[in-house]
Amino acid sequence: MGSGKEASSAIIVGAGIGGLAAAVALRRIGWSVTVLERAPIIAEVGAGLTVWPNAERALDALGVDIRPRAVPTISRGNLRTPSGRWLRRSHPEDVGVLAIHRADLHDVLRKELPPTVLHTDAEVVSVSPQGVVVCRCGGEENELTADLVVAADGVNSVTRRTLWSGDPVFQRRTVWRGVTPPGSVWPVEESLTLGRGVQVGVLPLPDERVYWFVTANADQPNQLYADNRREALNRVGDWHHPIPALLATTPEDQVLHNDIVDIDPVPTYVNDRVVLLGDAAHAMPPDLGQGACQAIEDAVVLAACLASGDGPQGYDEQRRARVHPMAAAARASVRRTSNTGLLAHLAVATAARLIPPAAWRKATAQWSDWSPPSLPN
Ligand SMILES: Cc1cc2nc3c(=O)[nH]c(=O)nc-3n(C[C@H](O)[C@H](O)[C@H](O)COP(=O)(O)OP(=O)(O)OC[C@H]3O[C@@H](n4cnc5c(N)ncnc54)[C@H](O)[C@@H]3O)c2cc1C
Repeated sequence: MGSGKEASSAIIVGAGIGGLAAAVALRRIGWSVTVLERAPIIAEVGAGLTVWPNAERALDALGVDIRPRAVPTISRGNLRTPSGRWLRRSHPEDVGVLAIHRADLHDVLRKELPPTVLHTDAEVVSVSPQGVVVCRCGGEENELTADLVVAADGVNSVTRRTLWSGDPVFQRRTVWRGVTPPGSVWPVEESLTLGRGVQVGVLPLPDERVYWFVTANADQPNQLYADNRREALNRVGDWHHPIPALLATTPEDQVLHNDIVDIDPVPTYVNDRVVLLGDAAHAMPPDLGQGACQAIEDAVVLAACLASGDGPQGYDEQRRARVHPMAAAARASVRRTSNTGLLAHLAVATAARLIPPAAWRKATAQWSDWSPPSLPN
């Protein structure tokens, strides 16, 4: 791999944030790349995302600038109670993040790729460890081979399920998300409101849009609701302003609902010529806001390891050491904040009120103080 005259080749399964970032990164080191995406078209899916400084630096390493499409803010800086009382106000020492619509981040990455790289309506049905990919492309079954297959096919990854093992694990939590129409509720301040077993996050986005999410404990997975906005309003419709207004102004058919799932740590991200990347490798609960950030980091480290000769094994070692403690911390956060006992809830609220700014910063910076390896020019 990586030697000889012909460019090394990669097939990337999935055109999410991880797959696109991997395509950009591998092209940066001179690889020839094919991205296979099962969706028939690239739609504007998703809601808001926070991009932490670690991922901002990783994007810089790829030469990708998302700042014109994002709003600088502080994630989890302002904490409130459902009645609106402030438990904590953001502090100049807090770690800054970029808030962006997922569709915008996706679009910026996609524009870095020539159109011929990305194939939609291309569902991968099997991958062999030797790098043979069977794809149902536009109704026809094709076999493709490459030096490396990057499985960036998300938490339900077919590749992981067949070549590794491990189904997603339901975290007994569900989430509704939405983005308000431009200017409908504006201005708003970033905030996270902590109820007992229910939390609401609010983040301003560009164009006077607002990203909101409502997470709630749930006993059963895969519960379907006739009216998702109504379900979210049932839980937080009497909480402080602007929460009810944000939900009420978001068109009902644009409210997303999904369960929070993650995966148990996989022992290796590499199986011969196949590597796992992004949620396929390490889906985690969204409590740290780092899932997509880690997929972007994966992409840069994979490219750096392939370029330096460390190869997939180097990628595997570096990434598992970095991501597994983070995924464990995100899971622990779910346990902590889902506890509806009064004492447990008061402990979370009191900690939010009393932790000094430096300790708060340290707790978040432990994940965001990361710098990418440099890629060859
Ligand atoms: C409520 C919530 C809030 C979040 N907030 C944040 C946040 O603030 N910051 C952050 O960094 N992260 C956040 N995340 C996590 C983030 O969304 C994910 O970690 C990230 O999007 C994963 O990207 P991915 O490319 O690995 O997977 P995906 O986005 O799942 O992409 C996988 C792609 O593969 C395609 N695919 C699947 N199977 C096949 C197949 N067989 N053949 C071809 N294509 C296939 C899919 O169609 C899809 O396009 C949040 C997640 C949730 C649920």
